[in-house]
Amino acid sequence: MRAARLPEAGGPDLLRVEQVGTPAPGPGEVLIEVHAVGVNQLERQVMAGAPLGRPVLVPRTVGLDPTGVIAAVGLGVAEERVGERVAVKPNVPCGTCDFCTAGHEADCSSQYVSGIHSDGGAADYVVVPERVAFPIASSVGYAEAAAAVHSVPIALHMIRRAYGPAGFAPGTTVLVTGATGALGVACVQVCAALGARVVAGVLKGEPTGDLPSLGAAEVVEYPIDGSAELESAVRDIAPRGVPLALDATGSGALIGAALRLTSWAGHTVVAAALPESAFTVDTRNFYTRRVTLHGCAAADFTDVRDGLGLVADGRVSPVVATRMALEDIREAFEMTKRRDHLGKVVLSIR
Ligand SMILES: [Zn+2]
Repeated sequence: MRAARLPEAGGPDLLRVEQVGTPAPGPGEVLIEVHAVGVNQLERQVMAGAPLGRPVLVPRTVGLDPTGVIAAVGLGVAEERVGERVAVKPNVPCGTCDFCTAGHEADCSSQYVSGIHSDGGAADYVVVPERVAFPIASSVGYAEAAAAVHSVPIALHMIRRAYGPAGFAPGTTVLVTGATGALGVACVQVCAALGARVVAGVLKGEPTGDLPSLGAAEVVEYPIDGSAELESAVRDIAPRGVPLALDATGSGALIGAALRLTSWAGHTVVAAALPESAFTVDTRNFYTRRVTLHGCAAADFTDVRDGLGLVADGRVSPVVATRMALEDIREAFEMTKRRDHLGKVVLSIR
């Protein structure tokens, strides 16, 4: 079968599509015939050696979030799952720690990432534990499911991190920074679907045309390190700040601005990382205004089921920026560096 292989750490330029043996599912695992897989910023940065968690284990078949059809099952997996259309949750929790047994899989400290620490789905076939292969509705396309399975559950988890399972009250104003990326778009869409008034923050020059139709009530622009510009633009719309700010950039400067913009007893939730991550904070933000800063990098199983449910119901329509062939994977990763598109770059495998 074909597989996009990373021979050593050093970035997507090293990726080569090679012929390798088709893997076999072990106990508790499923073999998926891959139809589509996303291309992710995080993946690109970790491949290149950015210190954003455990480094990539090489050589490796990449591809975090494949979707497809279960072709075979390993020992202990119900035979009925063969033929099921599924999407893979990239972060694979251990299943046995205190966080996992409590249903807080997002916080499992022993989790690994399929496509970074185990062979992923930028290939004709992939093997994953069956518990991270979530069913997708027949109405949802494989590319759309690949665009959704990582970002939409994390967007939901970010909201629940702040407000618990019930989420926020309809009409709550939410600021989303980095609103044109895959996660940012998902944050805009999920917040709008849940009744928020969404203020979408985007880097100047990024394509913003579709954001209002995706649910953004307002769009504000900022230059590359323009925290002051972001602050003043949001204050024009929400003079007392926003109760919830979701950051999909990982930029220290923008997270600092989001914290300052967070209103009384409100929340800033960060779910992205950049090497340029440092910022200074006035700790009186936390004391005098009771604001909370949350860190988030994955989703619970409940968030995945509920997120895919929002997609199945048509309340969230995943945005596929473009579809490319597996052989074009280097160009696809190159595209994630450019800020000229909105939503997710997806590889169509078959
Ligand atoms: Zn665990």
